[in-house]
Amino acid sequence: MTTHQDTTTVAVLGAGPMGQALAGALLDRGHDVVVWNRTATRLEPVVARGARPATTPAEAVAQATLTLVNVIDNAAATAIVDQVGEAASGRTIIGLASDTPDSSRELQSRATALGARYLGGAIMTPVATIGTEHGSILLDGSEDVVERHRTVLEGLGAISWVGEQPGTAAGYDMALLDFFWTSIGGYLHGAEVARKAGIDAASLLPHALGIVSILTPIVTDLAGRLDQGTHDDATSDLESISASLDHLVHAAHDAGLGADALEALRRVTRRGVDAGHGKDEITRVSFAEAAALA
Ligand code: NDP
Repeated sequence: MTTHQDTTTVAVLGAGPMGQALAGALLDRGHDVVVWNRTATRLEPVVARGARPATTPAEAVAQATLTLVNVIDNAAATAIVDQVGEAASGRTIIGLASDTPDSSRELQSRATALGARYLGGAIMTPVATIGTEHGSILLDGSEDVVERHRTVLEGLGAISWVGEQPGTAAGYDMALLDFFWTSIGGYLHGAEVARKAGIDAASLLPHALGIVSILTPIVTDLAGRLDQGTHDDATSDLESISASLDHLVHAAHDAGLGADALEALRRVTRRGVDAGHGKDEITRVSFAEAAALA
């Protein structure tokens, strides 16, 4: 990542922790940064670093070739873009809130109706990574527009164009956060099961990190199976997984804990066994079919 870019005026709408990090990284690279936030006092840290405050979203966008909208969700972002009105015409706007593909498509259609070039975006890494090579931002929309702004955007982190279709970046975002939060939930639930068994989190940690490390080859194998539709030669088959889930549900209940997530997975695996796929890999089961039965 280069550290000095040509100066560009960039507007950042939203000054939560992430909006401040985006504005700060742009300032660090010497850009002219215009900022707006619903609560103006929240702009103070970035204004102290050299950003110029705007009193309305339209005032900010009118000064910038590139605008990043980073607020809590796409409903808020859409209301802000509506306030920008005709000042959006001919400008590039990137929506960077984490939200559903449908809400991303709605924002895209509102921004383009105002004459803006619009890219849908998803920030996949925390605040501390912004402005470093560890930052990761996914973008959908016109590849030409991504390329036009790539130099500036790469000052924020690694930029991945994921496709032309609006909502694609949000699709990645929702999928990856689904994986992330159910994994974190699983860790916290497991840590509670451990605590009830007299094992503290520090004692569990090296073994928990062992589980984290085996996820890399396992997820790689599962991804290939999902795309190729190959479910045989299981290293751990559905019958075995189903039995294991029975024990895990019992252990959680014995410890006085709920086991909703484990029970949901058990429903899916049992369905696979009942359908005659007990010797197959877990990729054989369909969450879509299981949801229809629930
Ligand atoms: P928040 O998600 O809490 O968003 C705060 C920002 O949203 C503030 O600017 C706030 O304005 C604004 N906001 C909230 N509601 C409204 C509204 N109705 N109208 C206008 N503005 C509104 O904090 P973050 O900055 O952390 O996150 C921003 C986005 O970035 C979120 O979608 C988040 O999921 C995503 N993200 C954040 C990461 C992180 O590490 N923080 C990592 C990856 C993605 P006000 O100050 O006036 O309340």
